[in-house]
Amino acid sequence: MQETSEQLVLQGLAVSEGIAIGVVLLIEELTDDHFPVFSISTSQVAEEIGRYRRAVDSSRKDLEKLQYNLVQEGSKEAVTIINTHIQMLEDPIMTTIMEEKIGAMLHNTEHVFRTVIADYEKQFKSIPDEFFRQRFTDVKDLSNRILRHLHPKVNHEIDEVSNTILILDELTPSLTAEHSSILGFITRSGGGTSHAALIARAKGIPYVSNINIDELRPFSGKIAIVDGNEGKVIVDPSDEELARYQDRIVSPKKNEQQYPVRVNTKDGAHADVWANIEDISDIRALHELEIGGIGLLRSEFLSSKNDIESFSEEDQISLYSEIIEKALNLPIYFRVFDVGGDKSFSSITSSESNPALGIRSLRFLLRYKEIFERQIRAILQASCNKELYLLLPLVTDVFELLEAKKIIYQVKDDLLEKGLKIPQSIKIGSMIEIPSAVILSDQLAKESDFFSIGTNDLTQYTLAADRSNSDLYKPAHPSILRMIDVVVKSANQQGIKVSVCGEIASNPLFTPLLFGLGIRHFSSPLRYIPLVKERITQFSSQEAESIAKRALACISADEVTRLLTDSYVRS
Ligand code: PEP
Ligand code: MG
Repeated sequence: MQETSEQLVLQGLAVSEGIAIGVVLLIEELTDDHFPVFSISTSQVAEEIGRYRRAVDSSRKDLEKLQYNLVQEGSKEAVTIINTHIQMLEDPIMTTIMEEKIGAMLHNTEHVFRTVIADYEKQFKSIPDEFFRQRFTDVKDLSNRILRHLHPKVNHEIDEVSNTILILDELTPSLTAEHSSILGFITRSGGGTSHAALIARAKGIPYVSNINIDELRPFSGKIAIVDGNEGKVIVDPSDEELARYQDRIVSPKKNEQQYPVRVNTKDGAHADVWANIEDISDIRALHELEIGGIGLLRSEFLSSKNDIESFSEEDQISLYSEIIEKALNLPIYFRVFDVGGDKSFSSITSSESNPALGIRSLRFLLRYKEIFERQIRAILQASCNKELYLLLPLVTDVFELLEAKKIIYQVKDDLLEKGLKIPQSIKIGSMIEIPSAVILSDQLAKESDFFSIGTNDLTQYTLAADRSNSDLYKPAHPSILRMIDVVVKSANQQGIKVSVCGEIASNPLFTPLLFGLGIRHFSSPLRYIPLVKERITQFSSQEAESIAKRALACISADEVTRLLTDSYVRS
């Protein structure tokens, strides 16, 4: 240890490179003091076993959710490690042995569980091979998770961290994977081959181990620098030191690989991945990332006024012209205002008791025709001499679609009559986002030039679950997959294109499944496009079809997710 006037400099082992500067938070190890110990009677055994099973079940749900998010971050290493934790939940230690012990020891579950894991630890510690000894960290990680569910008060401070450097005895894989706001790690022990180290490196989080963390105890809440390149920790740094390190911070580089506009599966089948855009500043990146088009332009997000009533025709023409110009000649699926329900963007207040099931999207535009006509007039004028793709949100049936088409063609005729220029061609697409549209997709396909499946709303309206409800909202549900299957068949029958623009189109977990269901056109937020393109190159059409077939036969969303995770981990 060297001590200068103010700062404390400690030398450790550089485990994950990079520089982090943040506020330090010391996380204490879980000890006996954190958990109650009491005996139970034989009549309470079943109740304790039930409590244990619920904790294991909640842990599995956490891990599956974590895995789902990690796929979207492109952290394949982390997904694979978390998968082993899920598999460990099936181990007899975690199931039958543990349940028998509750009956035999006649003590509360936390105590029995900690005793079982401590015995297990002794066995692991006696293994001479360092690599296997390190694997106990995974067991400890999983058991801490189960303990937190049994006794939710422990370690709650980790859930509240933000822009923090964590100091701990030993780093666990799920802690490394789970908290996106942690900037760096400092630990007492843990080598470069640990699972946690692997994840820290994959996520680009600087990490230094072999530090005597007792010396850092008085500094909780102070600023520290983690220098993962040189294995140094500097606590309470001087202004000069801070400035020197601030200049050295670089954001981790991810997904640098460039993919062509169209990517191929292993057997050479094509697929397109276009962009979902709601911010005009993202359009420039379309060209840098070699993206073939905008598969969903969420026009309601583009007005700076946040109120479409006061969005004048002139302002709309100039905004849409700017977008078209910036997109150069790329095709744009121009979605007309998708307002109402959970999306406000309108000062027309709704007196409906449940606006999500009321006048929203296309229904709103058909009711407030002047808003719809104004937007169509603006889009048509901005797209003069070009090919225009108009996308109608939340279409319910053909009658509604025909109403909308009548208005669009009337606006076109009015513009022509006034001698104004209009697009070379106007293609009108339906968003398939509610079950009625799926059931009537054969009729809709006859009157639409293309389909775009909005799986976000389709999931909400099929499962009667809000998209923000992470327990109930499950786009992997077999009912959603069967709906996609129906819609693709209807589209193919009429020879029209069908894309998916909901969130699942941007999650590489779903890519082979959607491809196997016949989707060849994905639309995703920009940052996920390289991941989806990469995923397309990793499977063959035959593999995708087999995944789709098995997924369609699943009885729950969780079963589908497990199937998809398994195929992702093996790829
Ligand atoms: C959808 O519902 O899947 C969709 C893409 O539209 P939004 O998320 O804008 O409702
Ligand atoms: Mg939608």
